[in-house]
Amino acid sequence: EERSLLGGLAGEISLALEHIAKDEMLRYLALYDPLTGLANRTQLAARVKTALREAKSHDKRVAVVVGDVTHFRFVNETFGRDAGDELLRTIAQRLASVWPDPADLARLTADHFAGVYAEAGDPTQIALFLRERLAPAVEAPFTRDGREIGIAFKAGVAVHPEDGLNAEALIKNAEAALSRAKATGERALFYRPEMTARIAETLLLENRLRRALGKDQFVLHYQPKVDTVTRGVKGVEALLRWVDDEGRMVPPAQFIGLLESSGMILDVGAWVIRRAVRDREAWRSLGLAPPRVAVNVSSIQLQQPDFVRDFLAAADDTGGGEVGIDIEITESLLMRDVEASIAKLAALRERGIGIAIDDFGTGYSSLAYLSRLPVTSLKIDRSFIATLGPSPESRTLVATIVSLAHSMRLPVTAEGVETEEQARLLRTLGCDEIQGYLVSRPQPAEALVALLAGDAAPRPPGKRPE
Ligand code: C2E
Ligand code: CA
Ligand code: CA
Repeated sequence: EERSLLGGLAGEISLALEHIAKDEMLRYLALYDPLTGLANRTQLAARVKTALREAKSHDKRVAVVVGDVTHFRFVNETFGRDAGDELLRTIAQRLASVWPDPADLARLTADHFAGVYAEAGDPTQIALFLRERLAPAVEAPFTRDGREIGIAFKAGVAVHPEDGLNAEALIKNAEAALSRAKATGERALFYRPEMTARIAETLLLENRLRRALGKDQFVLHYQPKVDTVTRGVKGVEALLRWVDDEGRMVPPAQFIGLLESSGMILDVGAWVIRRAVRDREAWRSLGLAPPRVAVNVSSIQLQQPDFVRDFLAAADDTGGGEVGIDIEITESLLMRDVEASIAKLAALRERGIGIAIDDFGTGYSSLAYLSRLPVTSLKIDRSFIATLGPSPESRTLVATIVSLAHSMRLPVTAEGVETEEQARLLRTLGCDEIQGYLVSRPQPAEALVALLAGDAAPRPPGKRPE
């Protein structure tokens, strides 16, 4: 009796299990491609939606990439469907081996693959990822029956929000971009031609920048900071320039961002420090008292765990002597990871390195926060100086910054001073140092010699403004 009961039970359980398995299978088939195990179009759309929601809160861009491989048809027809299936599975594995999150990959149609790329800060990063990581992984030859078949990957990209606001639009437009890429023979195209063009230009520039350090194409120009009253030189700021292959002097605004996004700023930043140290030595060997040199430090540098060690190494600090180099950091950069920044800056302070907050007034520093930072001076942003004459608001703001700084015993530098009128007002407002075209434009190290020797004092001390 028991045996037959158990037998019946077993039958029912196995029926139920079969049912569950079928149910799960159906659910699986509704969302995944059984051949490759990747998501299908429905599931991809869901992943795009999730990525769009998350991107909103993380300030990231979301891109949809649709790609296919050449020769799929050829493999299918020459070696049979099995070989075609094997090729598709191989491609799926290769894609999954480099994609940030393999769950974001899908197979859309026979030989169209797609992926959500949600890691990008800007579209250039996506182009770089496709070129440097994805293409090399996917394009390894495919071997069948002892024959090697070359594989080329083509891609179309649609970026949120420019190329579509929702999942369906992004997928559709990435497919449209892929068709265009195939028609024109390009390896990767963005949905909007302007974006492709802009990215190509950026990548070209980045390539040339990559070689700039080796070709010794960077130079430092120096701009003095002078005492507002005596006009005596208190220090100089090192400003980076790039002399490109055509001999053009490229201003930093056009390439600092690229150095930062590519990580090259670490090497170039170290070069800036070494160069500044060497230029100081050159001035010293001419019998001049070398001024302190302030270098601009980017957030990428400050965020490095070894920032302090690297900085001191580049400044060739042997532990005993005076470093002679100061740094300038914009206030917005300090806001990220405040505690770590404070510790690093404090370590530099201990070595006698001055720390100026650059572009002060443009960020959102709270007073409480500012008082915790181990800074040694504030630099008032150029935009407030430019409007100093006509705008009473600017005057109030500058006066406030000066009294705030002085209450914390910090000297204040005004940058971008172009007229005697501005210099006069700054003097009245109690600003300690000025810097700007009125005193001197940034100039090469050799040109600074005259100024340091006092032959070409920027303005005779004590000269009354008219
Ligand atoms: P910044 O640190 O605020 O530098 C001041 C900028 O104002 C410089 O532009 C300088 O040439 C310009 N300037 C100085 N006086 C005047 C003036 O009287 N009128 C006007 N209109 N402009 C004046 P520059 O050299 O083009 O540098 C731009 C920015 O690039 C710098 O802003 C700094 O943020 C960045 N930068 C420059 N060199 C480096 C570097 O070595 N490393 C890093 N990370 N950033 C750098
Ligand atoms: Ca600066
Ligand atoms: Ca500035």
